[in-house]
Amino acid sequence: MAGILFIISAPSGSGKSTLVNEVRRLVTGLDFSVSYTTRKLRGSEEDGREYHFTTRERFEQMIAAGEFLEWAEVFGNYYGTALSALDIAREHSADLLLDIDVQGALQVMEKVPEAVSIFILPPSPEILERRLRNRSQAEGIANESIIETRLSEARTELRMIEDYEYALVNDVLDEAASEMRAIVLVARGDATPAEGDLAAQCVTGARSVKLESALVSFGVTLAGI
Ligand code: ADP
Ligand code: 5GP
Repeated sequence: MAGILFIISAPSGSGKSTLVNEVRRLVTGLDFSVSYTTRKLRGSEEDGREYHFTTRERFEQMIAAGEFLEWAEVFGNYYGTALSALDIAREHSADLLLDIDVQGALQVMEKVPEAVSIFILPPSPEILERRLRNRSQAEGIANESIIETRLSEARTELRMIEDYEYALVNDVLDEAASEMRAIVLVARGDATPAEGDLAAQCVTGARSVKLESALVSFGVTLAGI
């Protein structure tokens, strides 16, 4: 039996990787799909751990051979989830987390409508900028134009939040991790009533005060919710 697919998207620098690592510490049976990308290795990354790093030529061969569940071009590089990631999770009897951008997320929502989608957002543009700067300093790359691009991309991506079942504001890490854990347990049918309530507060359509305040700070108004 295939496990549950969790689609996780967030503007770059929101703390998605940090949060996903924390949740995987709290919940067992959650595999992380290692995507393919044509971008260069960053900082302490290792091939096969954060990503399978590959060439554009090889990536295009994989597209032609139908080896991807989804793929997209993000910031000028290809990124994609190989169908084989689903087989590996199935072999482990595990659920699978897909850390993918909004374009890829829409493809998966269409192909796997039962997938659970979670959008992670930072509390404000100021905090997002600080996290982007801290990370680039830690990695020894200080590139103003990358930070500017990612901040303006964040506003565009946030407009897609209505397509996601859950919206999680990553303000205090422990709180956001508990919320994501609750969402996973609800999807598995394993949640206590309190965990169920916590997850329900993160439903995008519930428009929590935290979500409203983050969206307002980014100047994003949503029509549908
Ligand atoms: P992403 O995967 O979304 O691009 P990262 O997980 O790399 O983001 O986080 C970006 C930066 O923000 C990192 O320096 C990380 O340590 C920091 N960070 C992540 N979550 C939080 C949080 N809740 N509070 C403060 N700092 C955070
Ligand atoms: P980064 O280069 O910062 O690791 O990731 C840049 C963006 O690519 C992030 O929004 C991330 O979610 C997205 N991404 C990573 N892997 C995939 C993937 O397999 N498919 C898609 N569509 N996007 C991905």
